[in-house]
Formats: sequence, C-alpha cells, structure tokens
Amino acid sequence: MTDMLTPVLSANWADDRPWKLTNYERLGGYQGLRKALTMEPDAIIGEVKDSGLRGRGGAGFPTGMKWSFVPQDNPNPKYLVVNADESEPGTCKDIPLMMANPHVLVEGVAISSFAIRSNFAFIYVRGEVLHVIRRLQQAVREAYSAGYLGKNILGTGYDLEVVVHAGAGAYICGEETALLDSLEGRRGQPRLRPPFPAVAGLYASPTVVNNVESIASVPGIIAKGASWFASMGTEKSKGHGIFSLSGHVANPGQFEAPMGITLRQLIELAGGMRDGHELKFFTPGGSSTQILTKDSLDMPLDFDSVAAAGSLLGTRALQIFDETTSVVRTTLRWVEFYKHESCGKCTPCREGNWWLVQMLRKFEAGQAQEGDIEKMLDVADNIGGRSFCALADGAVACVTSAVKEFRSEFEAGYHTPAWELFPYGKSALF
Ligand code: NAD
Repeated sequence: MTDMLTPVLSANWADDRPWKLTNYERLGGYQGLRKALTMEPDAIIGEVKDSGLRGRGGAGFPTGMKWSFVPQDNPNPKYLVVNADESEPGTCKDIPLMMANPHVLVEGVAISSFAIRSNFAFIYVRGEVLHVIRRLQQAVREAYSAGYLGKNILGTGYDLEVVVHAGAGAYICGEETALLDSLEGRRGQPRLRPPFPAVAGLYASPTVVNNVESIASVPGIIAKGASWFASMGTEKSKGHGIFSLSGHVANPGQFEAPMGITLRQLIELAGGMRDGHELKFFTPGGSSTQILTKDSLDMPLDFDSVAAAGSLLGTRALQIFDETTSVVRTTLRWVEFYKHESCGKCTPCREGNWWLVQMLRKFEAGQAQEGDIEKMLDVADNIGGRSFCALADGAVACVTSAVKEFRSEFEAGYHTPAWELFPYGKSALF
C-alpha cells in the first residue's frame, strides 16, 4: 500500500527534530537554493512552469504562470507573500508541514523571491497557531544565521528580508486580497479583482501570493528538475500533493501521494473506514467544495476529474462521513462557520448565510415546511456568484450539493428532527 505514497515534503516528518536546519541540510536541504542562485530568474520561472505545478491553496492556478504576470518594468518593490492562513474546515496540511519541515518553506521562499526579483517576503500565518509561528520564526532565524536569507545570500549579491507575520484569527484573511489588507494594517476584507495581486497587491505593488505547499514544492522542482515533478500525477495535475483524511476513517492524517490517487486508495492507506461502517459522503477539498458520494470512490483526485464530477479538488481535505451522519446537521455546522466568518462587506454573503443557518436549523429540528427546500436553494442562488470573494461560493456549495445528493433527508426535516433519524452519540463526530 505505502508504495502509493510519494513522500517529498513529508519525507522527514518522522525523523528526530526534522525542523532543525542541520537535519534539513543533511537530507540535501538548501541545494535547490544554491542551484537557483546560479540560474537566471526567468529560467527558474520556466522550470516551475514546465513542472506543471498548480496552486496548492485550492484554486489550482498554474504557479509559474502567476509568477510570470509580475511586471518587471514596474518601479515599485515586488513582494512575495506566503498564504499560511489555512482555516478551511477540514483543511489541515500546511500546519503540519510548517511544524515538521519549516525549512522547505523558507528555502522555497528564497527561491521564489529570487525568481520574481523580490527582496521582501512575508509569511502570513493564522494567529491561533502560535506554535507554528514560533517554529517558523526559529527556522527563519536559523536561515539568516546560515546566510540563506538576509544580505548577500551565499555571496551572490542577492538580498532578501523575510518577515513571519501573525494574523488575528479571521477566516476571511486567507482570501488573498483580504490578507493583503490585513498585512497593510487594516481590517481584512476582500478587494475587487482585477487588478490581481500579481499586478497591484501589497502597497499597490506587484505581489505574488502563494500557498505554503505551493512554495514548499519549489525547492524539489529546482533541485531535481521539472521533469521529475511532472513525472508524477496526471496529465493536467502534475506532481505530489498532501491529501488530508479526517472523520470516519480508522487512521486519519496526511498522506502525500501523486495527484490523481483515488479516495478508495486513500481510505485504504488510512486503515479503512471505522469498523463496521461505510462511506456515505465526503468533501474532496474542504467544506467549500461540493460533497460527493461513494459513486466517486474511484475518481482520480485531480483538478479536472473532480471538476467533471461537479465539485472541486480544493485543498485535498477529504472529510469522510459514514452512514451514521446526518447530512442536514453537517451542512448546518458548515454554514454556521461561514455565517460566523463572513466579513460582512457584501450583503448576499452577510445576510444570506444568516438566513441559511435559520433555515437549516428548522430542517434539523424537523420544523421545516413544504417549499422550504426551494426557498433555501433560492437563498443559496442569491449568494453564490454574487459576492466579492469565494467565501460565499464555498458556503453554498455544501448546501446545494447536500440537497442534490440527499434530498430525502431534507424532506424528512418537514416532520422529523435529525437527532431522531441520526441519534447523537452514534456518529463519531456529533
Ligand atoms: P481564484 O481562482 O480566483 O485565484 C487563484 C489565484 O490565481 C489567485 O492567486 C489569483 O490572484 C490568481 N489569478 C487568477 N486569475 C488571474 C489573472 N487573470 N491574473 C493574475 N492572477 C490571477 O481563486 P481564489 O478566490 O483566490 O481562491 C479560491 C480557492 O481558495 C478555492 O478553490 C478554495 O478551495 C480555496 N480555499 C482555501 C482555503 C484554505 O484554508 N487553504 C480556505 C478557503 C478557500
């Protein structure tokens, strides 16, 4: 089974103190940076483009292409910002990565900044994870002392300052433009795009915003070559990726595997479903992606196959639910999260998610009325695609897909409480 894994970013997670610089160097750490500094920046961008790396934060935008959008004739400074504000329900890959292997991120920051000709980089970490912030700060300090960051890196004349910045604990600050507002010292709220950050981002200057795992994938691509990375995965979703399994599996956790691995294989790697239970539904990439059922067990988990199945690969956060789970109650829990985290900037998201929670509570209590399903779908339709950022689209994805897949459970909400159909205590989750 384990031959299905491709441990690259997670290769050293089980070692003794893998976060220490000396241990990282012993395994070839910072060789990618040494090589990158002998290359032309455009050649590095070309290598990342050729690798086929697509953004690991959820959207899957081609990383090398994003870098190539940075206008080099703009006289303003250029910035690299690492989005380490991982907060999506179910998404739990960047935090273990930064805890176990912070130097692969720091090395990726140095290479990526050099490629886009930036001398300033920020790692924006969600405020709640103080242990991660400390670990990253320590790694950055070690990298400065060893000459991998700071002035005249490895004697090449290239300068790079890196700041680890703690957010204040708002889901919306993972949205890239809200993150930039927050970094500038303002309340984090999304900006209208375009312009995209690559053209006008931090302090209205060209800024590349990339996810932790995307940047951490860069050292391997440079050290081992684009073709090595592209040899893994599928035609349009190349390379390795961290898949996070949570919920009703025997051994939840992170599994680094080639893109295109199936859920059936991942569940096997996770020791199977919990004893005596079977899969009812799952999210392919966190709660902002449409739920799918056991019909998709053999679907390759790559960007195109998941999109063809009507969902999104997102952050590869596979939340697994067995037959003891009420889909109504699960959807309510997710939408409560989105209602709480809505920044309030635009009306459809601020008001609409509040209404969805009221309606879902009625379904959960068995007090909904005929026609409420249609009303709820109408509210969802007036949220998705009508707000500033992807938070609202994500919030309604679970509602519309839950009704599509399990309409009869919502119809039962016209007369029977969910806790009678799915008693508390039977599910591992509630
Ligand atoms: P998006 O597709 O709008 O953009 C993706 C990236 O590509 C952005 O960096 C954007 O600036 C860039 N981009 C897109 N078009 C561009 C263009 N024409 N020129 C220059 N750059 C361009 O997606 P998004 O709204 O940034 O993110 C949505 C995704 O975030 C969802 O798919 C979801 O899975 C994910 N998400 C992740 C988390 C988490 O905790 N990791 C939380 C919520 C959502």
